[in-house]
Amino acid sequence: MKLSVVVPCYDEEEVIGHFDEEIRVVLGQLAVEYELCYVDDGSTDGTLHRIRTLAQQHRPTTRYLSFSRNFGKEAAMLAGLKEASGDAVILMDADLQHPPQLIEKMLDLYQLGHDQVIAKRSRDGDKPLRSVCSRLYYRAVNKWVDVELTDGVGDFRLLSRTAVDALVSLPEYNRFSKGLFSWIGFDTVTFDYRNARREGGRTKWCFGALVNYGIDGMISFNSRPLRVAIYTGLSLAALAAAYALWIVGAAVAGGITAPGYVTLVAIIVGLGGLQMVMLGLIGEYIGRIYYETKRRPHFLVKETNGTAPTHTPTAR
Ligand code: UDP
Ligand code: MG
Repeated sequence: MKLSVVVPCYDEEEVIGHFDEEIRVVLGQLAVEYELCYVDDGSTDGTLHRIRTLAQQHRPTTRYLSFSRNFGKEAAMLAGLKEASGDAVILMDADLQHPPQLIEKMLDLYQLGHDQVIAKRSRDGDKPLRSVCSRLYYRAVNKWVDVELTDGVGDFRLLSRTAVDALVSLPEYNRFSKGLFSWIGFDTVTFDYRNARREGGRTKWCFGALVNYGIDGMISFNSRPLRVAIYTGLSLAALAAAYALWIVGAAVAGGITAPGYVTLVAIIVGLGGLQMVMLGLIGEYIGRIYYETKRRPHFLVKETNGTAPTHTPTAR
């Protein structure tokens, strides 16, 4: 069989060399044919230059693509999956946070017949605030979203040819991989590993990016947030009706006194805020429709060292 390893890289000049050494040692010990597929996601440092050199040094086993600009990790993974020709494909980060030593275990599980082998990381070494936020987020999101998202489960996984073909066939422009992996289903197995620190360089996830990613996760998969908006509106209307009844009762019993200025202001401002949030929510969905209708490609390739060699998939 043939194994493809897809590695999205964005400004990874510092670590890419070390990553390449480590992964080759591991892959060399496996009894399978392999290929490494680097996707340079429009890096602004010397990443592309390094990848080019690596591809020349290890000619038949290394391929690369380079994007015309930064299109994001989702696009880079998609490009890698399209390019990969193996019977199984492993997605890995370039910063050595995904230990190459786990590949052997993944392959063993693949040989047992699983289509998705997921490595689930612990939150060791994460900032405490980030892990608490993540936990709360996953608890909330699983109530809202149709597909199951699990804390610690990321993109580090092995996918069988069947699963890769399924993923690549999904045409949507807004790709939220965590959800897509879960949506395609197939026979899935998960194992745990201890999180490792980044080898060098820096993470591209600032707090704002994480919040945006979180919102994406909530609305990429269904229209349930809109349903929640309807229920919120109905509950508020019921509250308002009860309050009106109470006021009328009080007026009948005690005559009309007219305090309540603070209540009024609070209600108006509160409802105004809520309406803005709901409008924003609707806007998000419309925005997505807008992007989907443009049918733009997910990425543009400016450089590559050739297309996939033809490879006939073999049975496991
Ligand atoms: N990455 C990418 N495009 C981007 C951002 C990140 O291809 O726009 C790659 C990056 O080079 C790395 C992987 O995605 O190989 C994970 O990125 P990072 O380590 O910043 O994320 P974290 O591990 O902190 O979640
Ligand atoms: Mg990382």
